[in-house]
Amino acid sequence: MVESEEKRERLLGIVSRWAKHTKANQMLRDGDIPNLVSQILEEFYHIHLCCGHMVDSFDEETPLSIKEIEQETGSPVISYGSYCKDCAEQYKKDGITLNSKEEEESYLAGVIR
Ligand SMILES: [Zn+2]
Repeated sequence: MVESEEKRERLLGIVSRWAKHTKANQMLRDGDIPNLVSQILEEFYHIHLCCGHMVDSFDEETPLSIKEIEQETGSPVISYGSYCKDCAEQYKKDGITLNSKEEEESYLAGVIR
């Protein structure tokens, strides 16, 4: 299960309404509720992935080779990392992944972009 921004927003809404309803928000400082929501989410999602999303098991990560350009030299480099399924799908659609050793070698050699 991927921790999505929507889920964070929904949880923020629930806790904010609860705090207002109970008047607890009069004692809260700015950032207390978002901080509480982050702590709650981290109890359930322990694995932080390269895309910034969190998951609760290694079954939900997808290892990827991503095309990158080194800033200083402009030469092609490969970034290896673990991504959530949604981001991995999107990166594949965007055409920024390298899907075999041959593709990686061609990319590094400048044969493909
Ligand atoms: Zn992701």
